[in-house]
Amino acid sequence: MTRHAVTVIPGDGIGPECVHAAIDVVNATGVGIDWIEQHAGERVFKQGIASGVPQDTIDSISQTRVVLKGPLGTPVGFGEKSANVTLRKLFETFANIRPVRELPGVVTPYTGQGIDLVVVRENVEDLYAGIEHMQTPDVAQCLKLISAKGSEKIVRVAFEFARSEGRKAVTCATKSNIMKLTEGELKRTFERIAPEYPDIRASHVIIDNCAHQLVKKPAQFDVIVTTNMNGDIISDLTSALVGGLGFAPSANLGNGIAIFEAVHGSAPKYAGKDVINPTAVLLSGVMMLKYLGEFAAAADIEHAVLVTLQEGRLTGDVVGYDKGVRTGDYTRHVIANLGRRADGWTVRSAQPIRMPQVSRDPVFRPAATKDVVGADIFVESGLSPAELGGSLEAISATAPLTLKMISNRGTKVYPDGNPNIDCVSHHRCRFVSRSGDPIRFDQALDLARRINETHEVCHVERLLRINGADGFTKAQGED
Ligand code: NAP
Repeated sequence: MTRHAVTVIPGDGIGPECVHAAIDVVNATGVGIDWIEQHAGERVFKQGIASGVPQDTIDSISQTRVVLKGPLGTPVGFGEKSANVTLRKLFETFANIRPVRELPGVVTPYTGQGIDLVVVRENVEDLYAGIEHMQTPDVAQCLKLISAKGSEKIVRVAFEFARSEGRKAVTCATKSNIMKLTEGELKRTFERIAPEYPDIRASHVIIDNCAHQLVKKPAQFDVIVTTNMNGDIISDLTSALVGGLGFAPSANLGNGIAIFEAVHGSAPKYAGKDVINPTAVLLSGVMMLKYLGEFAAAADIEHAVLVTLQEGRLTGDVVGYDKGVRTGDYTRHVIANLGRRADGWTVRSAQPIRMPQVSRDPVFRPAATKDVVGADIFVESGLSPAELGGSLEAISATAPLTLKMISNRGTKVYPDGNPNIDCVSHHRCRFVSRSGDPIRFDQALDLARRINETHEVCHVERLLRINGADGFTKAQGED
């Protein structure tokens, strides 16, 4: 019999109860697992380790490459970054897979519709790169970074995951109508890669309509692939469709590494009370067993959970904490039901997921042509758009760049700006090549230096034309 080594992190709050329940159930299937217990989270922060993840834990994960973890809390006053984000970034678990399915006895407004869908969330890019700066004392900026490489990886994982579970459709959900370059990158990548999977239906939906459709008619969805922030939000929504966070498992997948955990957090008010619902972590254990190739044991546990729920053994989150089955009793029932099959309910047969093989080298796709055609020079100023515009026209009168327009939070305010715009101190001043020919970036920097002698320049962005296409978007109202 194959034995597997798994790093187990019990976590904080209700984590240890859930994780030990999952270990007991997995062990009861007879699968050979050596559990290597390590720690992260609150107690580690309190030991003064700022990342919340000690070296022993990092070493163990580097060896086992498979983790079952409980939720980790960030105690107030300790640590700047969450230990979860540290783990995700350290091991580049770029794909977050969050399946939800209708469960017997867990009555929701959707009961009977057969919800069985998966959110595949990009897990490391987007606004979660955590690059934030105050641009002026009253305007903050967060960089939304979406790469071609990151988009390709997550799109391929979505299609491969669909194949591994015999699923038939992948929907890409983006806000590409507004964020044409960032969210648009995922959409374009999806449309480029989809034809490689002719057995799977591919479609695109705008993320806000996706949320609307999920509430209105959720069973229409199979696999949804989306960017980090969108996925964070809609996957909590999809958890609620099937009964709440107590039933929502997840897998964080990277190249040759996988971390399995519930979607929920440490719910500290229930810690140690033997009342919480361990199903989300049990189902995370099911996902882990599939990843390890232990498909029979995975199906046994999923059926045992279905049978237990079918028997009406429901925890307090579903029926109220005065009436709910206790965590320990629920777990014992699941173990007792191993080997039984749920009446009228099926579990998906699965095969190993083929993770996309992507080079670890930084991707550098040289463009055939890349020209600087202007610059957005951001200025902190309390002047009116007309005053600022007049001053910038004068400063740039002999420069190789000419002022095209000024926008405030994305809307043109100069020249001929909309007078209704309530301006803040952060002005994007768009300068373009006076001759129409490409310029050198240092010419734009020279101009920024000159503007900075009179005003306060807070940021400079190049306007690029890459392979003949504009690498920047227009302001609202810009021609
Ligand atoms: P949470 O721990 O998920 O709890 C929110 C609510 O969800 C609970 O109060 C409870 O609802 C319900 N709930 C969650 N898990 C449950 C379970 N297994 N059984 C029954 N009910 C469950 O979210 P939070 O209160 O926002 O976060 C608490 C801490 O967890 C924070 O420090 C946060 O940073 C951390 N966190 C960690 C992770 C992670 O490690 N992956 C994820 C999210 C949050 P009712 O109150 O309605 O009973």
